Amino acid sequence: MSSTLIKKSEQPTAQSVKEKNPIVSVVSPYTKLLKEHGYWLGLCPFHEESDPSFCAYEDSQRYFCFGCSAKGDVITFVRAMTGATFGEALEILDGNSWGHGVTIAVAKLPEPPKRVSEKLELQYQKIFDSSSKWEGYKYSAESIGGFSFEAWKNLGAAWSDSRKCWVLPFRNAACEIIGFQYRFPDGDKYTLKKTHLGLFIPRVPVQKIMWVAEGASDTATLLTLGLYAIGKPSVKCCNDMVVEFAHAHNIERIIICVDNDAKENPRTKKMERIGLEYSEKLSAKIGIENSLLRLPEEFKDVRAFIRSGKTRAELEKLIV
Ligand SMILES: [Zn+2]
Repeated sequence: MSSTLIKKSEQPTAQSVKEKNPIVSVVSPYTKLLKEHGYWLGLCPFHEESDPSFCAYEDSQRYFCFGCSAKGDVITFVRAMTGATFGEALEILDGNSWGHGVTIAVAKLPEPPKRVSEKLELQYQKIFDSSSKWEGYKYSAESIGGFSFEAWKNLGAAWSDSRKCWVLPFRNAACEIIGFQYRFPDGDKYTLKKTHLGLFIPRVPVQKIMWVAEGASDTATLLTLGLYAIGKPSVKCCNDMVVEFAHAHNIERIIICVDNDAKENPRTKKMERIGLEYSEKLSAKIGIENSLLRLPEEFKDVRAFIRSGKTRAELEKLIV
């Protein structure tokens, strides 16, 4: 037979690396996963926790954390763990070096810094400055939308040209940067390794009534409506920071608004509206007058509600 049958070395593609690297084996060097009903469950490698809320799904070959909302596929995971670009992640996975040659272990996360981390501020400033062309906005119409770019910028969103993703700063109650969320146009997101979960706080004057949203895009939607809002990366986390922030700024009333989706709780196996459950916990500890926003079931979140053409007045009627 002729030499034409000899395969040329092929460039790895997203599909080829996904086929040869099952999600469970990629994640396993970083956390012990136990097989549950239809998925694998373990302690989240992205945030500190004592009860497991990190799930890896064999059907979709994706992961999702109920604690910090980290989600994605094997490529997102490798990027989150190593800081690799998309292309570098493909090569790491293609070379099967994952978990062998590449041993960047996730150490136990240190306590969030009490003082501002100059390094993070500088790192962020660099990304933000180089983002001045706002090239990333071309992705926004399809992948984000539902809010103004002004609001998105007020949250500090910067587009990273090298990583092809949005970088959003996480801030503590004193507004200091303590971490970064990387958010890709396809919706995948993660907290940059060795940085901390925190709040999305807009650079606009604080108002007496503060909305607390789940996620950056809902926060941006509320800001676009002229409301004052801060965001948590997920329903479960950062409640203490919200309380601290509210007291530091003499907030008089808080409206808690979370995603509407019911998800199976990996511990109880029941479908739960985890948003409402955790909102009630937050509500009980604030010590400031507060209310919940209850979206009609057909709307996943605030952004979906507003994108469907509803107004701020219609949204405000949902406060209970
Ligand atoms: Zn997590």
